[in-house]
Amino acid sequence: MGGRSSGSSLTPKPSKEERNIYKKIEKSEKSIRDNNFETLIIFNYDGEEKLRKGGAEHEVAVTRYDMDIMTDRICTHNHPLDGVFSWQDINMLVTTNMAELRAIGKTWLYSLQRIAGRPTQKATQGVEIDDGPETYYVSRFARDFEDAYRAAYTQAGRNWNRESVEFREKHGTFDDYLDYCYYHASRIASGWLKKNAHEYGYKFTTKRKRGVKGDVQWKS
Ligand SMILES: [Zn+2]
Repeated sequence: MGGRSSGSSLTPKPSKEERNIYKKIEKSEKSIRDNNFETLIIFNYDGEEKLRKGGAEHEVAVTRYDMDIMTDRICTHNHPLDGVFSWQDINMLVTTNMAELRAIGKTWLYSLQRIAGRPTQKATQGVEIDDGPETYYVSRFARDFEDAYRAAYTQAGRNWNRESVEFREKHGTFDDYLDYCYYHASRIASGWLKKNAHEYGYKFTTKRKRGVKGDVQWKS
């Protein structure tokens, strides 16, 4: 439907207003990208910051109030280790019915954007997830993603074993191994999101910072 200008394109060109909003968001993201602790920012509809809160290396404590104001809004946070979303991120995205969740790292920007005003039924279905000794009740999108992520980690471990002997001798420590698995699992899980996010009502995109050298230790 729609007029001649929008045609049948699913991704119409962003308006000037939208571009301005994203300019402000990117400016905010630049200010948190290189921190070694996480910061969460919730934006107003005009792209101004509504709420900003800092946390620890891997998490920010989110209150009921924070979650209430996330509905229909764009939120961002930084990932100090540059990795893809967590199942907790995706669960928050679905359960609050956020418009878009972004994660900014030193090299990568990840985004999950709601396509049609709300997630699909498949995404919001409630299922159980095991997280160590705890079991949580979460949205199916979060659980399916976590299953894919765990499989990606196993695959990354196999990739490590297939690397050349020289490679493994050069990067021989256990920490190197964990970094390698983290990096590769993140790339594989990104591929899963790219392929599957639309089934849950989201569009997944990644952007790589231009001109970055040295941050990424491993070939992908
Ligand atoms: Zn996150």
